[in-house]
Amino acid sequence: MKQLTVISGKGGTGKTSITAAFASLANNAVFADCDVDAADLHLILKPRIKKTMSFHGLKIASIDEEDKCINCMKCYENCRFNAIDEEINVIEERCEGCGVCVYVCPTKAIELKDRESGFLYISETRFGPMSHAILKTAEEASGKLVTMVRENAKKLALEEKKDLIIIDGPPGIGCPVISAITGVDLVLIVTEPTLSAIHDLKRVFDVAKHFDIPSTVLINKYDINIDNTNDIIDFCSENDIPIVGRLPYDEIVTKAMVDGKTIIEYSNGEFPNRIKEIWMKTHSFLNRGV
Ligand code: SF4
Ligand code: SF4
Repeated sequence: MKQLTVISGKGGTGKTSITAAFASLANNAVFADCDVDAADLHLILKPRIKKTMSFHGLKIASIDEEDKCINCMKCYENCRFNAIDEEINVIEERCEGCGVCVYVCPTKAIELKDRESGFLYISETRFGPMSHAILKTAEEASGKLVTMVRENAKKLALEEKKDLIIIDGPPGIGCPVISAITGVDLVLIVTEPTLSAIHDLKRVFDVAKHFDIPSTVLINKYDINIDNTNDIIDFCSENDIPIVGRLPYDEIVTKAMVDGKTIIEYSNGEFPNRIKEIWMKTHSFLNRGV
């Protein structure tokens, strides 16, 4: 079973539209939406949920005020997240589950409990099975949640005899990204010719390189700044990173998303043909290596 993660470093590069287009071109794949903070692959793939599971992220402090608390205020004084108020109530959205209050409480009045932070889903889409998740408001994406979405995708692939997992990765270079690329066969970095995107491309490439995962690059909206596009090409050439293709700026990307379709379904012109070529190249790198 092969695994491909599509990442971008920053949001708004068209990463999810590319992942969705790949979903409609892949023959026998499972899809994993690991961009759990801004999950929007479902807007295009429209999953029909078959199974829902609770996700417990951070723990939360729980105080037995009635029987055990002696109002010594030690928890209030020692919580550096200001998650305990003067009435010794836990302010749920501030609690990081660090456990300092449990440690300082002289009467063992505090314990850490599981907190439901979101939900994991197993779904079916018109292109194949999908694993995804949603976080409750104010919850932060974590490597743990990304790992669970990937584990569910792997189980689905084994059960349904799929030979490929296509992962829509999270932005940035933090823990969720590392969880989304660890152990995959290929990373596709979707970038665009802006200074911030180039900066992020370099950072995200370094992360993939550090974990010894081969990278390829797709330059989206290459025609909005040809000089910057040439800088990306130079960077890729200096670092032996294959460029699987370039896409011009085209409103079709937004229009297809608004219509809830992949670019391949939305139109059959030049732009989707380019994506088909990019998919074929990416697929061949997946199978034979970079
Ligand atoms: S677990 Fe940490 S963050 Fe939460 S209330 Fe206790 S000290 Fe504060
Ligand atoms: S540290 Fe324990 S006993 Fe002291 S106020 Fe907090 S909960 Fe109550």
